[in-house]
Amino acid sequence: MSEAVESELEHFMQGLRKRNPHEEEFHQAVEEVARSVMPYYLDHGELRDAQILERLTEPDRIVIFRVCWEDDEGNVRANRAWRVQFNKALGPYKGGLRFHPTVTQSVLKFLGFEQIFKNSLTGLPMGGGKGGANFNPKGKSPREVMRFCQSLMTELHRHIGEDVDVPAGDIGVGGREISYMFGQYTRLENRWTGVLTGKGQTFGGSAVRTEATGYGCVYFCENVLHHLGEGMEGKRIAVSGSGNVALYAAEKILQNDGVVVTLSDSKGTAEFKNGLTPEQLDFVKDLKENRRGRISEAADEYDDVEFHAGKRPWGVTCEIAMPCATQNELEIEGAKQLVANGCRVVCEGANMPVDLEASHYLKEHGVLHAPGKAANAGGVAVSGLEQSQNAMRLSWDREEVDQRLKSIMQRIHDRCVEHGTQGDRVDYVDGANVAGFEKVAEAVLAYGVV
Ligand code: NDP
Repeated sequence: MSEAVESELEHFMQGLRKRNPHEEEFHQAVEEVARSVMPYYLDHGELRDAQILERLTEPDRIVIFRVCWEDDEGNVRANRAWRVQFNKALGPYKGGLRFHPTVTQSVLKFLGFEQIFKNSLTGLPMGGGKGGANFNPKGKSPREVMRFCQSLMTELHRHIGEDVDVPAGDIGVGGREISYMFGQYTRLENRWTGVLTGKGQTFGGSAVRTEATGYGCVYFCENVLHHLGEGMEGKRIAVSGSGNVALYAAEKILQNDGVVVTLSDSKGTAEFKNGLTPEQLDFVKDLKENRRGRISEAADEYDDVEFHAGKRPWGVTCEIAMPCATQNELEIEGAKQLVANGCRVVCEGANMPVDLEASHYLKEHGVLHAPGKAANAGGVAVSGLEQSQNAMRLSWDREEVDQRLKSIMQRIHDRCVEHGTQGDRVDYVDGANVAGFEKVAEAVLAYGVV
């Protein structure tokens, strides 16, 4: 990067930090995008004159509200919830809801900002948004979760709609929570409309939505490998997390004859010494999907599984790392371990799991780094397909949705290659950022000063 571009970037970031104090995650997400797009931005005077970057980093609006509910003992509880409606240039706001005690406005702004470019990459008409609450669903009874979801929707329903804003799931929000919220929405509005995605398949949910983010991430990874003239067979892949994204990524890796060497949760990492087997995957799915237990129980059950308490997976030798848990889970120490052990590809199932320092280190050491906004776009892509099916009042079968998902992931990959090829290698981070930005910027410019 030239000195002039570096200085423009620093100037822009200084302003952004000043306008958004104490929002480190948001600063990080913007810096990653701005670093990639700044040369393009400076080359296009019309974008600069229209202040497109400054406008794209300011959300359309943020709705903040109180969620009161009663626990099973009759105690009154209060949480805070947000909906960040970031940008609707390309379509209605679209992005998940996250329930986790670490949720803050900064986290949701970073996720909403990323979502703008991710949704742009899918080629579907979706703007970017994100929401959630600082509610911890762990340890809550199903009735408590239901009361919380209903109370949240009692406020949120005013701000969403099939042509306005269509939320989905994220960490802590799966099919059960979406169903509770959808039930409350239809009760309040007295009409059935595809206002949430990730619904049950008997009431408007799309086939493959549950699997879409994990499967899509593996499809993206396969495209990266094919571009290198290789396949996934026999490759050792370290997956982190053991939630929705991680489990379906692991399932698809096994179907493609890859070798899953780890899964993890917030307490530590399970290392599968002989590679995860389909039986072991079913065991972990049962643990997690039925909210029964921790990943450490896989080591209690199977002799060839070792549990590393408090450790992330990055110390286990692998050729591909697939972080599928949460933001900033792969820091510089992890990046050094991966490089030292011969890892060549990092493919993000989670949103922003690699911090900026680790990302630079991976790049310097020739590791291909597929960012979440490209590699995990399969989830929102199938959500977009769910919206289309709801609008048409029909449902496509599993094969059709899976085939569309594969094609979308391949198109996203090809756009990254088109915009990110530098000499004989592809910078997937730059490619995804520039390709995603170009389209949104063009739309915002066309709209005039709004
Ligand atoms: P889940 O809630 O299903 O699973 C999250 C997993 O990550 C769990 O194994 C959880 O462990 C682990 N985890 C959460 N927080 C931490 C932490 N601070 N440290 C270590 N591990 C942690 O969420 P999803 O699988 O849906 O989402 C995972 C990631 O993928 C997120 O970044 C999300 O934004 C992203 N994503 C999800 C999409 C989707 O369709 N669901 C779409 C696109 C991106 P534990 O159980 O111990 O908390």
